Amino acid sequence: MGAVLPTVVIVGGGLGGLSAACHLAATHKVVVLERALVPGGRAGLIAEGGYRFDPGPSVLTMTGILSDTFAAAGAHMNDFVRIHPVDPMYRAVFDASEGGGEFRVRHGREAMTEEIRTFAGTVEAKAFSRFADWLTKLYEVETPNFIDRNFDSVLDLARPLRPALELLRLGGFDRLGRIVKKHFRDPRLQKIFSFQAMYAGLAPAQALGAYAVITYMDTIAGVYFPEGGMHAVSVGLAAAASAAGVEIRYGANVERVVRDGATGRVRGARLDDGEFVCADSVVINADLPVAYQRLVPDLSAPARVRRATYSPSCALWLAGARGPVPPGAAHHNIHFGGQWNEAFAALMKHGTRMPDPSILVSVPTLTDPHLAPHDRHILYVLEPTPHLGGQIRWDEERVAIRADLAKRTGELGYPADIEVERFFDPTDWERMGMAMGTPFGLSHRFSQTGPFRPANTDRRAPGLVFVGSSTVPGVGVPMVLLSGRLAALRVREMTS
Ligand SMILES: Cc1cc2nc3c(=O)[nH]c(=O)nc-3n(C[C@H](O)[C@H](O)[C@H](O)COP(=O)(O)OP(=O)(O)OC[C@H]3O[C@@H](n4cnc5c(N)ncnc54)[C@H](O)[C@@H]3O)c2cc1C
Repeated sequence: MGAVLPTVVIVGGGLGGLSAACHLAATHKVVVLERALVPGGRAGLIAEGGYRFDPGPSVLTMTGILSDTFAAAGAHMNDFVRIHPVDPMYRAVFDASEGGGEFRVRHGREAMTEEIRTFAGTVEAKAFSRFADWLTKLYEVETPNFIDRNFDSVLDLARPLRPALELLRLGGFDRLGRIVKKHFRDPRLQKIFSFQAMYAGLAPAQALGAYAVITYMDTIAGVYFPEGGMHAVSVGLAAAASAAGVEIRYGANVERVVRDGATGRVRGARLDDGEFVCADSVVINADLPVAYQRLVPDLSAPARVRRATYSPSCALWLAGARGPVPPGAAHHNIHFGGQWNEAFAALMKHGTRMPDPSILVSVPTLTDPHLAPHDRHILYVLEPTPHLGGQIRWDEERVAIRADLAKRTGELGYPADIEVERFFDPTDWERMGMAMGTPFGLSHRFSQTGPFRPANTDRRAPGLVFVGSSTVPGVGVPMVLLSGRLAALRVREMTS
């Protein structure tokens, strides 16, 4: 008989929870308790009328991190999910007020340099080469030292000192907007290489240069798409974890994490039907601020959670439509509005809708036609909006904003003969368990990054670990996969 392994319960089978499960499968008896009937959380699935909609992440980057997650469970990614490059990675369509035009963000440096040369001339193409070198160095310094790492103290930022000095030298503490402007003169290219700050909940003019690492993920590391849609990543990770011995229970809604009254140590999780699942450690994948309120209500949330600043949210219109897409349409199409600084001010300062909204229209059926019935397309239309702390009364404006998105998409030439549709606004995200009604979690301002972000442990509750986008390292698919690895390290520290 083998040794008895310590037991860990993971509350939630989102990508963060599944990653933690993959990383713990070899050393622990792992039970994932997921309240939904499918894995993936935000990377879930809506299947209706022959369409398979991804209602969450659409842009998959940093696939090396994904294959490392499979490898942690002793699996090969290709046996569980087939991933292909999306090229062009994006089609950017500019407003007439800034000269209009379309730009295709291409896979690979050579193709990208050529595209820039044709679009904006040789000087800008040369600037891209220097910019890409800079992004690569930034990524290499940041990932092992500041992203894929647990922090026990603020001082860890300067331990070892060399990477911190290197980050300083590279301009990591300068402003991203300024750095991009130094490289590119064409305002349209400045947008292409800085709008990603929005993913971190920041305006490019305010974001630190260090956050250009998201630009690296997007424009240098490349965008990919799995056969069967983004949900195939969730299904693949769940299957790999199960094959490695993890037990995944669906329809299992955890009501409370149970702790020892005297020591505060976790003892397990209680489901809403009263069942108690005993464990040496509990990893919580539910959104961290919500988890403090509902799953461990006897622990007051730390100050950095109570005073948190959240990223803007989004409105998402999903439609299954009959008819052709406009000529030149790509898998991902960003239709930029003309007003740039005003857009960020509206979202992040005034809490209002963008005056001239930039939208993402993804048509995943251009890459995988099997996601829809024959001759049909999926339209995934996303407009960034303020979170629930803003001024929009969603009960009053929801209908008009949905209609606006549908109308604009039709005017841009996408098919308008809609067979199936769904609409999500921040009140829906809140109902689904996301604090402040944003799927993008706590923003990544410096004061909410690394050692300043809500920690993945709480010293008042030995055995309790958090995973997912509102703890370290942060939001987005690659980050929550890393978060699973960091959570697993914490569990091992606690149970070894
Ligand atoms: C519209 C949208 C667009 C996005 N676009 C992108 C993109 O293009 N690229 C990108 O990288 N990222 C994108 N993201 C962000 C990305 O999806 C998230 O950062 C990531 O999926 C979050 O994973 P998670 O594991 O932290 O949380 P979740 O996916 O929310 O997982 C948490 C899980 O816990 C479960 N749970 C919660 N409470 C309980 C309970 N009490 N009992 C049992 N189970 C429970 C939930 O059901 C869920 O399955 C997008 C998100 C959305 C919604």
